[in-house]
Amino acid sequence: MNQYINEVLKERVGLEKLYAFKVKDNLVSRVTGKQINGLFCYSTKEILLDSSLGDSPRKCVAIYLHEVGHLLALEYCMDTSPNADAHNPYFAVLVVTMYRRANLLEYLKLYDFCDTSAGQRAYHLDEMPEDEELIARFEYIVRRSASLANSDLSMEQLATKLYFEDYRQHIVSGIFPTPSKSTTKTSWLKICIYFFALTGFAAVSGAIAASIFP
Ligand SMILES: [Zn+2]
Repeated sequence: MNQYINEVLKERVGLEKLYAFKVKDNLVSRVTGKQINGLFCYSTKEILLDSSLGDSPRKCVAIYLHEVGHLLALEYCMDTSPNADAHNPYFAVLVVTMYRRANLLEYLKLYDFCDTSAGQRAYHLDEMPEDEELIARFEYIVRRSASLANSDLSMEQLATKLYFEDYRQHIVSGIFPTPSKSTTKTSWLKICIYFFALTGFAAVSGAIAASIFP
């Protein structure tokens, strides 16, 4: 799998280092007993990938980045959100930001942001949060990851930013911070550019007219 998970991926995603992983045959969840594609071991901070992923390059990278998301969320103190657990919205923002940078957005799943306040993995619909909460999480994840993915910051720097600007705010307010909409800034920027362009044009036109018709 080193041909997919390599320095090129590290640079593209903006990771400060390529986090090590181990390949295992027949990886099984200790919780469900079912075969799984990847696993982040909290006790050893190891990323494990199932050997079957070797046949699926894009899926292999997506699973790896999901597990890197767990590692970053743990390292940057966002593993236990005020209203969720490991697969919480802040973890999901990290993962989706990496997916955007690696052009793997189609691998985002409900599972990635659906753990409940009881600390339970949401494998089935009746274990997931209410619809309104799901919608709020999804909107937040999409907007926030879009603004972060376009920055020049590394994923580790973004994790720090996310912790201080969003996670800590959520602890105080109990609601998701509203990410700034870059489109609004762009609109104002455009208006300013048009204004200065028009006033400049008017001034030049006036000067030309004055020279022709003194
Ligand atoms: Zn996970």
